[in-house]
Amino acid sequence: MFSGVHIPKIVVITGGVLSGLGKGTAAASIARLIKDGRKIVTVKCDGYLNVDPGTMNPVEHGEVFVLADGGEVDMDFGHYERFLDINCKFSWNLTSGKIFNSVITKERKGEFLGKTIQIFPHIVNEVLLWWAKIIEDEKPDILLIEVGGTVGDIENSWYIDAARLLKKRYGQENVCYLHLTYVPFLDNVGEPKTKPAQRDIALLREKGLSPDAILCRSRMQLSKKVKDKLALLCDLETGQVISAPDVSNIYEIPLNFRKEGLLSLLNARLRLPLTENLGVWETLVNNIRTPKREVVIAICGKYTELRDSYASVIEALTHAGAQIAAKVTLRWIETTDIEEGKLTPAAALAGVNGVLVPGGFGSRGVEGKIAVIKHAREQKIPFLGICYGLQLAVIEFARHVCNLPDANTTEANPATPHPVINILPEQRDVFLKGGTMRLGASKNDLTRNTLAHALYHAVECWERHRHRYEVNPDYHSRLEAAGMVFGATSQHGRIVEFIELKDYPYFFASQAHNELTSRLERPNPAFLGFVRACCGLVPVEHAVPNSFI
Ligand code: GLN
Repeated sequence: MFSGVHIPKIVVITGGVLSGLGKGTAAASIARLIKDGRKIVTVKCDGYLNVDPGTMNPVEHGEVFVLADGGEVDMDFGHYERFLDINCKFSWNLTSGKIFNSVITKERKGEFLGKTIQIFPHIVNEVLLWWAKIIEDEKPDILLIEVGGTVGDIENSWYIDAARLLKKRYGQENVCYLHLTYVPFLDNVGEPKTKPAQRDIALLREKGLSPDAILCRSRMQLSKKVKDKLALLCDLETGQVISAPDVSNIYEIPLNFRKEGLLSLLNARLRLPLTENLGVWETLVNNIRTPKREVVIAICGKYTELRDSYASVIEALTHAGAQIAAKVTLRWIETTDIEEGKLTPAAALAGVNGVLVPGGFGSRGVEGKIAVIKHAREQKIPFLGICYGLQLAVIEFARHVCNLPDANTTEANPATPHPVINILPEQRDVFLKGGTMRLGASKNDLTRNTLAHALYHAVECWERHRHRYEVNPDYHSRLEAAGMVFGATSQHGRIVEFIELKDYPYFFASQAHNELTSRLERPNPAFLGFVRACCGLVPVEHAVPNSFI
């Protein structure tokens, strides 16, 4: 064990049986349950050999989450930030790509001269070194380490082994292991089956980890009888078997863990005096459970087949809805269907209360999105555009209001005579693909007496970016002359950050990804204003003074 170094309490979360059980939301929920003012740092360890998920297809991997520091990370960081209301850092996302890269670079530099470099000890030690560095840099009170994948996978084995060694390094009383397992209910026998979980716990023990509690994902709440059986067969106390049934919304999970006694279990195990702090949280969850109003919002995109690629957008809408007790029902519109003439914008949007065009890349589905924006603008349906959504709203406005029928983005048509959206000058010579876009949080200067100004109630705001293109400065004055309002700009007016239209219930778009900074207890202003407008409310509740500091 180290002496003279900062020693946090460490909670390791592993998973078993199968993927897709919601380990990320379980980990975020545990973190939220124990959040009581102490500093919590959340680490996620991914098995894949990509350095980061920025180069992966969102349909395969889900959304790429962008942190304030510009790191492109696993979407579980979205859960951590939304549940904990903290800003995570790129260095908190370990990937096997980063770990192997680091070991091989050291080997080439001659740092291990004469040695044979192996998974054990070199890769395992590197993982421990990265965790130690996070502890040293952040000095957290509690370090939560989520290991991606399931126990038994080849590609997370070095993380599991490093987790095993934590007790030796940091002390028995400072490290605890929670394991998410699966208890299926079989309809034909009408009861939960514990065998997969039994085998899973046996495998975990074989790898050297003895769980302090098992979190049992299942369709229904586990009965005392089933918990007793699992405890007996897995060599645990009944109190260490935590039921984690399916929930209608993920924000219920911390409340469920509280009910299951997880907080007192962690306090006892780690000798902590944590108290819960879930008052506001519970009120918001109640608003989601028993909404007073309902709205239908159309999400118009091209990855609609995998909802995970829009995870943060969906959550940001939920947060806004929770504030005003509105149930937000989503209608997914595949814009390629509109482009191919299989669906008209009017039919696609019939009966919706709002239209959201999220971020995207490439040319497929673009004309469909533009057609949808035109319909929303003409029919004055509340509209929110995110990133590509802003760029396409500018193209739509240029074509149909500024009379530039061939206006386009050079991303979709490099030969357009009116490149109202063009590559950022600093992106022109960038050819490497990983982590090279305009990424992370930057300051937007809000324009006084605009909707943006009222929504943020401030003269500046910080939102996160992930893009290569921008509104072409050569067209700023033509757009403004035709009535488009730039609600925020950056870099001394060069980059248009927010656009809006006057005399609409709500027409707002952002070059940033506002969904990334939304949290259940602190929704993003642009999303809150949008959902309020969709409910027929004024976008901003309180009258806004004419000028701000
Ligand atoms: N494809 C656009 C760009 O690179 C928008 C990106 C996005 O929506 N994230 O600028």
